[in-house]
Amino acid sequence: MGRIRFVDLHAQYQSLKSEIDAAISGVVEQCAFVGGPYVEGFAEQFAAEYGAAHCITVANGTDAIYIVLKMLGIGAGDEVITTASSWIATSETISQTGATPVFVDVDEYLHIDVEKIEQALSSRTRVILPVHLYGQPADLDAITDIAERHGLYVVEDCAQAHFAEYRSKRVGLFGAAGTFSFYPGKNLGAYGDAGAIITDDSDLASRCKMFANHGAKRKHEHEIEGINSRLDGIQAAILSVKLKYIHQWTEQRRVVAASYDEGLAEISQITPLGRRSHSKHVFHLYVVQTENRDGLRQFLADHGVQTGIHYPTPLPLLRAYDHLGLTAEQFPRAARMHRQILSLPIYPEMTGEMVNEVVAAIRAFYE
Ligand SMILES: *Cc1c(COP(=O)(O)O)cnc(C)c1O
Repeated sequence: MGRIRFVDLHAQYQSLKSEIDAAISGVVEQCAFVGGPYVEGFAEQFAAEYGAAHCITVANGTDAIYIVLKMLGIGAGDEVITTASSWIATSETISQTGATPVFVDVDEYLHIDVEKIEQALSSRTRVILPVHLYGQPADLDAITDIAERHGLYVVEDCAQAHFAEYRSKRVGLFGAAGTFSFYPGKNLGAYGDAGAIITDDSDLASRCKMFANHGAKRKHEHEIEGINSRLDGIQAAILSVKLKYIHQWTEQRRVVAASYDEGLAEISQITPLGRRSHSKHVFHLYVVQTENRDGLRQFLADHGVQTGIHYPTPLPLLRAYDHLGLTAEQFPRAARMHRQILSLPIYPEMTGEMVNEVVAAIRAFYE
C-alpha cells in the first residue's frame, strides 16, 4: 500500500507552478515586498469574491482575531464567550486583549453549544466568538439571536471555513466581522503566514487597518499605538492566483468527502461527524468518531496512512488555562468527543483511489 499523506501541498503547487512562479517573480521584480499593489489587489479581490464591503489583510489568522477584538474595544474586565473546541488562537487572542475567555461546551458538531451560551453570560460579556470548525458553519441563527437579545458582538473565526455557507449566506458575514487564516494548510493557503478580516462596517474596517499598521492611516501620522501585522506582497500575489481556484477546490473537497461517506457507511464502528442542515460544509477536515481512536490511528500509520487529531485536548483543559480552574466535568461533550475524533486525509487533489485505500485500511483494522 502506498503512502497517503494527510495533506499534499506539493500536488497543488505542481498544478499551478507557472502561474505561482510568475506571480512571485513579479513581486520581486517590482520590489513590492510589504503592502503595495499586490496586497491591495488581493484585499479587493477577496472582499469582492466574498461579498463583503471591506477586507483588511493582516499577518496571520491569529492577529485577525486579536485586531478585531481590540478594535471593538474589548479589554481588561470583559468576557468573551467561545467554544471549548478549537485551535488555541481562538482563545489566546481573547486573553491578549486583557479580556477573559469563557468556554462553553460543544454540540454534536463540535461547535459552541447554543443551549449553553446563555448560562455562561455575565454582566461583563461583550462578544460571542464562534468557530466554524473543520469548515462547517456553527449554529448562526441561534448565536446571532442570543447576541442581539443581549447586545453582544459576534466575531466569527472562519480560519477553517473559507466560503462555507449557512442558509445560503457565507460565514464571516453574520456578525461584526469574520476572521480568516491563509496558513499554507488552510483551504486558501499562502506560502507562509497570512490572514484577513472581513466586515461590512466601514468604521471598524478603518480602525482595524490602522491598528494593524502601527496605528497610522497615513505614514508618520500615528493616531494610536498599534501593532505591526502586515501582509507581504509575495503572499498576496500567491493568494490572488489561488483565489481563482478556491471554488473548484472546495468542490473537489466535497467529492472526496462524499466518497468517504459512501465508503465508510458500511463500517459500523466508525461514524463521520454529523452535518448541520441548512449549511454548506467546505471540508477543511474530514473528521470521524470512533471508540478505539488511538488503535485505529496507529494501525493506519503502520499502513502508510497519515491522520491527525484536531485537537487532542479541549481548550479549557489545556495547561495554559490551569489558572481558570476548569475541569472535564464542566465540558462533558468536548471531553468525550476529543477522545474519539480522528481527521482523515483530505485535500482537493486527493483521488477516489486514494480514498478507497484509506477506507480499505480502516476496514482491515476492524476486521
Ligand atoms: C489556523 C487557525 C487560526 C489561526 O490562524 P494562523 O494564521 O495560524 O494564525 C485561528 N483559528 C482557527 C480555528 C484555526 O484553525
